[in-house]
Amino acid sequence: MVRFFYLLLVLFFVSSCMKGQRVDLIVHNAVIHSMDENLTMYEAMAIKDGKIVELGPERQILNKYSSDDSYDAGGRDIYPGLTDAHVHLLLGAKQRMGVDLSQCKSFSQLLMDVEMYQQRKPSKVIVGHGWNESLWRNNELLTNDELNKLFPKTPVCLFRNDSHTALVNDALLNLAGITSETVVVGGEVVKIDGKPTGIVTDAALELIKAKLPNYSLEELKEKVIEIQNELLMYGVTNVHDAGLEASEVKMYQQLIDDDRFKLNLYGMLLPTTENIQFAKKNKVFEYKNLTIRSFKIFVDGALGSRGAYLKAPYSDNLSTNGYPTITKEKLDEMVRLCMSIGYQLNAHAIGDAAVKLVLDAYQPIHRLNPDHRWRIEHAQVIDKEDLPLFLEYGVIPSVQPIQGVSDYGFAEQRLGSERLKTAYAYHSLLKTTGVLLIGSDFPIEDFDPFKALYAACVRKNEREQPAGGFAISESISLDDFLRGVTTWSAIGSFQESKLGSLEVGKEATFAIFEREITVPKNFIKNFSIATYINGEKVYSIE
Ligand SMILES: [Zn+2]
Repeated sequence: MVRFFYLLLVLFFVSSCMKGQRVDLIVHNAVIHSMDENLTMYEAMAIKDGKIVELGPERQILNKYSSDDSYDAGGRDIYPGLTDAHVHLLLGAKQRMGVDLSQCKSFSQLLMDVEMYQQRKPSKVIVGHGWNESLWRNNELLTNDELNKLFPKTPVCLFRNDSHTALVNDALLNLAGITSETVVVGGEVVKIDGKPTGIVTDAALELIKAKLPNYSLEELKEKVIEIQNELLMYGVTNVHDAGLEASEVKMYQQLIDDDRFKLNLYGMLLPTTENIQFAKKNKVFEYKNLTIRSFKIFVDGALGSRGAYLKAPYSDNLSTNGYPTITKEKLDEMVRLCMSIGYQLNAHAIGDAAVKLVLDAYQPIHRLNPDHRWRIEHAQVIDKEDLPLFLEYGVIPSVQPIQGVSDYGFAEQRLGSERLKTAYAYHSLLKTTGVLLIGSDFPIEDFDPFKALYAACVRKNEREQPAGGFAISESISLDDFLRGVTTWSAIGSFQESKLGSLEVGKEATFAIFEREITVPKNFIKNFSIATYINGEKVYSIE
């Protein structure tokens, strides 16, 4: 009898050895780009409890591990889940609830679209998003005259695609108390012969926004999930949200608790009184896949609307340099606050004067904490003299390559050919800092990472413009682009111990791509065929 039990025990032991170590998922027959420091590639990996247990050659992993769930990648490329280091998720969600003006080719089409939208879905206040007059046939001078005729009583607010400017009708100007007398610091109420034209920018827009309707929470949630699912289709699993409100944190927590929101969300709070209280109380805030440990401040506006703050006047309007949208006192207050609570500070700075303002303000943090990882978002126009300060102060640039290839048309008009040489200069930035975060600025731009890749490496948009590429010497390599959307973005959000590369112990967050990721001769679409977050399949074409 004892011998019989002994035999059973041996048999059990042998069979469990043959089966191998149990894991939750084995991914094999793949080209796994780990994106580790040496860019090591593997054929297979074993995953347990959402983490990577081992990576290695096909046979080694299949012999050593067993699982009920295995994925044959068919020889395809696998990368760590991609990061979009600069998005505005809720702004995107809200845009999808109003009139979409991004496809308008003229001012008359814009008016028609707004009229049709109002007939289809009558609203008490009409809100639209996405127009960009630089794409229109003729650069028309924008005034609200026609809008007033069409909508004499219903308030209308139509945001430009950069969200820093809106065309507003008189009904809404009146409601917001904006008159010919109104002057706002850090923004503009554009006037002709003293009368507001309906064009309102930056700080002046806050008066308008206060009169816009609140969206229903349920509707917002649905749109956020819709956007998430589109990101997952592209293999994007991590987003840095560049403008979160403390009041929105609950919404994300609910979506996470309902097992619906899967993306790793790294939030940057806007510097409102309520958000500052939230940060002081919570310090580094972590809730499952949601992390908040940074503030986002706007130091200037956008180039298109001449709100970017430049050292020298605009080449196409010598009477203005643009303007800062924050006072020196507020900027310094945010620097002190972030230093004291261990937050990262991320400043939107587009013009060279704004970039310098931020670099100067960031100077004290570097001496206090060399590993602060504070960021400048966009960093579009940089005075050559200021470039070394990024390295000296340890400031990380966070850029959106797609903006260069969508702005190049008006960028030269605004900046002139000499200054254009130091604009959207991603190669020069990377050479200086050795690190570059890459994002899209969705919904201002498309979040398709392959459009970003094409813009970064080939310096063209998906319509193959401009021919020859925009300032091609500022292109970056494919490996650097990939680091920008994986490892470097993880570093730029203090998440490199769990995200950004596929290594033992890190999160099993990855995407299997339909096509090999290369620098194509012509723009080519690519998608994920299956996306995993923490070992869970969150998207699949099947
Ligand atoms: Zn942005």
